[in-house]
Amino acid sequence: MFKRILIANRGEIACRIMRTCRRLGVETVAVYSEADVNSRHVAEADFAVLIGPASASESYLRADHILVAALSSGAEAIHPGYGFLSEKLELIDACAKYGIAFVGPNRRAIEVMGSKIESKRLARNTGVACVPGYDEDEQSPERLLAEAQRIGFPLLIKASAGGGGKGMRRVNASDDFLPMLALARKEALASFGDERVLLEKYIVNPRHIEVQIVGDRQGGLVHLFERECSIQRRFQKVIEEAPAHHLSADVASKLYESALRIGSAMAYDNAGTVEFVLDADDHDKPYFLEVNTRLQVEHPVTEMTTGIDLVEWQLRIASGEPLPLQQAQIGRSGWAIECRLNAEQPEHDFRASLGPLLAYLEPRQESGVRIDSGLHGKSEVSPYYDSMLAKVIGYGASRTQAIEKACQGIESLRIEGVCTNAAMLLQILRHEGFDAVLTTRFLEMHFPQGTQPEPDLHLLHTLAVAAAWAASQRVAPSAWGELRGFRVTARGGPLASVDLRLCDISAALGSETVRLTLSDGVYALAGRGGLSARVQMDGAAWVVQVTDQHGLDTAVHIKHTHGRRWFSWLQGRSVVWDAEHELEHSLHGSIQLSQERNLSATLPGRVSELLVREGEQIKAGAPLLIMEAMKLYHTLAAPVTGRVGRVHVKAGDIVAHGQLLVELEPQTEPQAVS
Ligand code: ADP
Ligand code: ADP
Ligand code: MG
Repeated sequence: MFKRILIANRGEIACRIMRTCRRLGVETVAVYSEADVNSRHVAEADFAVLIGPASASESYLRADHILVAALSSGAEAIHPGYGFLSEKLELIDACAKYGIAFVGPNRRAIEVMGSKIESKRLARNTGVACVPGYDEDEQSPERLLAEAQRIGFPLLIKASAGGGGKGMRRVNASDDFLPMLALARKEALASFGDERVLLEKYIVNPRHIEVQIVGDRQGGLVHLFERECSIQRRFQKVIEEAPAHHLSADVASKLYESALRIGSAMAYDNAGTVEFVLDADDHDKPYFLEVNTRLQVEHPVTEMTTGIDLVEWQLRIASGEPLPLQQAQIGRSGWAIECRLNAEQPEHDFRASLGPLLAYLEPRQESGVRIDSGLHGKSEVSPYYDSMLAKVIGYGASRTQAIEKACQGIESLRIEGVCTNAAMLLQILRHEGFDAVLTTRFLEMHFPQGTQPEPDLHLLHTLAVAAAWAASQRVAPSAWGELRGFRVTARGGPLASVDLRLCDISAALGSETVRLTLSDGVYALAGRGGLSARVQMDGAAWVVQVTDQHGLDTAVHIKHTHGRRWFSWLQGRSVVWDAEHELEHSLHGSIQLSQERNLSATLPGRVSELLVREGEQIKAGAPLLIMEAMKLYHTLAAPVTGRVGRVHVKAGDIVAHGQLLVELEPQTEPQAVS
């Protein structure tokens, strides 16, 4: 076994790899960019080396900088994690040149599998069925169009070098094919430096099921069963589980056998994943998709059910040891479900949520809940990297128990300061459709409008923020810190009342006006089922105890963040309020607790297209402009219904994070009905 390794990654996966290293007594070297100086993976490593500025292309994607870091720190091996350089030949070549072990498979496997065109050919040669399509070398638009017409529609255009769901376009009709092809090529070239594409018949009800394989350098090869990853959004996995739900033993063993056949054709010699799509409309008929030649994001569900530490196996194999177990010695039990916790707002078209954390608290280690996280109290969510913050894995004897544990984990993981998709994950896990056969259409089928905040919980958040804000108006801000245990009372002044217009939050709340009144330290929310709130100061936070009509209490934690933002946290769900400017006008009169009314850049990037003109009427949710950031196109939508005011940018402009893009004049009064 190695004495010291370098981890060429960041975030949760870097921390995950270090956990195993610590247990095995292997020293760790972290690498970090200027944006990650205060990050958890740096804090947890034995040594850390700065490798460049924030931009990944100047740091985490620089194989040369990483090699220098490895050589200067005396690391014997490099673990690439996933993403970044994990499937790039550059890193493995540099390792070979300087005599450093690469924790991954042989070069040839990475090379062949890096191209979807070549990997499909290899799979077909081993007798494994692939999705019908076109994967020849000729790439002229005429030939591709003719092949597309032969395959039929809908079909998928895929970048041969693609990954992470990027570079894929669905085409529904022949007329759309050439424009989509041009777009897909442009994106493929920008993201992967390779514009070759392949075409595949689009399977209308696909299940994504994949098989974990591990091989060693002595020719050993085993599978560690399957994972189901059908809960996806835009071709990206959101929730994964092992075993697959409702999968026949016949299909499962066929998948294992195909995966091993493909693995042995490549002399596969580390951890890898063979991905398949199954046609749910055709008895789960499986088709080969691709091989990922690295540790997969969702590897924990395999670990929880087999009891195997995949990172340990990777390190042993890379250091020359044989597989620790033979196929017959590998079994599994129980059920595991992993949820990807991202810094994003599903109710606002998955807009990114960025900024420094105000607090971070992991639940006490208990059986059945595993948290793989890259965060600590000093973390800042920056726009430079992937939005995945942590993974919550629930494990139990049955699927129901695993779901319960996953929910428990999500609700008790406290991330304050940014919004996450926690509420959406909980809604998926608790949806009745989650017990049926899962397909990648799950989200569009069950949440066609996207997931929305749960009305009751959102009301609690709203009331609590309003109450904390109202309370804050009665105490000089400088005195906040000293007023521990402070309870607002009516002694200090007249009865306060705030009229809240709950708008733009969810259809269920509509734009109802409710009155918040203060009396004897208790804020009551008139007209809303007899809810009342008691506000207390606890250190730097407001704790608002909301009591419902049955006398049940719920505590909402609230912080006044940097700038004018308020942040509230309740059972895993968090909301960032840009509301203070709307709250502070007066304790009396009408106050809108709406989200931002103007459109600002949520990421630094380039405006690629403007979709509206000044003066135009728009509905909340209407697309306003397309931004290009981190090589992806993001559509920014109107946060409110109203009229487009001043437009501050034009196509081609480079904009900074937070920069005002489009002013909106919200329609304040409902239209009179005549
Ligand atoms: P998987 O099936 O393992 O999710 P993907 O093909 O979706 O595989 O790729 C993994 C994803 O992880 C990519 O979208 C990549 O952008 C992202 N990624 C890469 N490095 C990191 C990191 N350090 N932290 C979080 N996400 C990352
Ligand atoms: P990536 O390298 O981006 O992971 P994949 O080929 O693995 O690309 O596909 C990603 C996802 O896209 C799959 O998990 C599946 O949900 C969907 N997908 C891929 N190919 C097809 C297909 N032919 N029909 C329907 N869905 C597909
Ligand atoms: Mg894939």
